[in-house]
Amino acid sequence: MSGTNIYMMVGERLCMDFINTVSWRESAEKRRDWFTSYANLVEWSIYAEVLTEQQAKALLLKAEEKQSEAGDVLKQAIEIREAMYRIFKSISKGTIPHPPDLVRFNESVSHFYQNLHVIHENDHYTLKFKHTEKNLDTMLPPILKSAVELLVSKNDLERVKQCEGDPCGWLFFDTSRNRSRRWCSMADCGNRAKARRFNQKEK
Ligand SMILES: [Zn+2]
Repeated sequence: MSGTNIYMMVGERLCMDFINTVSWRESAEKRRDWFTSYANLVEWSIYAEVLTEQQAKALLLKAEEKQSEAGDVLKQAIEIREAMYRIFKSISKGTIPHPPDLVRFNESVSHFYQNLHVIHENDHYTLKFKHTEKNLDTMLPPILKSAVELLVSKNDLERVKQCEGDPCGWLFFDTSRNRSRRWCSMADCGNRAKARRFNQKEK
């Protein structure tokens, strides 16, 4: 683990941040996937607080022994992420997602939700995934759950938006009171848009 990567987390929902692990999503030339190895996926998961440092260490050790399995998990994570991206992008545009993307998403839901159970703790009941820490794909169920919860939340879905910065492509959950957020980050795409407007005025 390098520990030096600073990952931008501006999605306001775990699933949105997961989808945003590709920079310049909508540019063929500039597009950069943050997940180029299983280790990257693990490192991001610590940053996203899906894994603890300790869990991550154990997973990385296991991944060294089972490299092809770790490669499969990475491939699977990227596949789910891209299906989720297309689904939520459609939603942000007010259109219906392509059925194959929902099928792909549901395959993972069926697979991982097998491990859900209701537990009683601190005087109330919660829905949790059973201990699957030893599985190399243990970071995926909570991410998926975040996406499922957002998808089935009728009112919250209207807050799913895509950054207006072109070709950023990032998605976010707009938590602003009047739903006026337009950019992934004011410091990033927001400033670029302002600069562009300024330049146009100068001309
Ligand atoms: Zn942006």
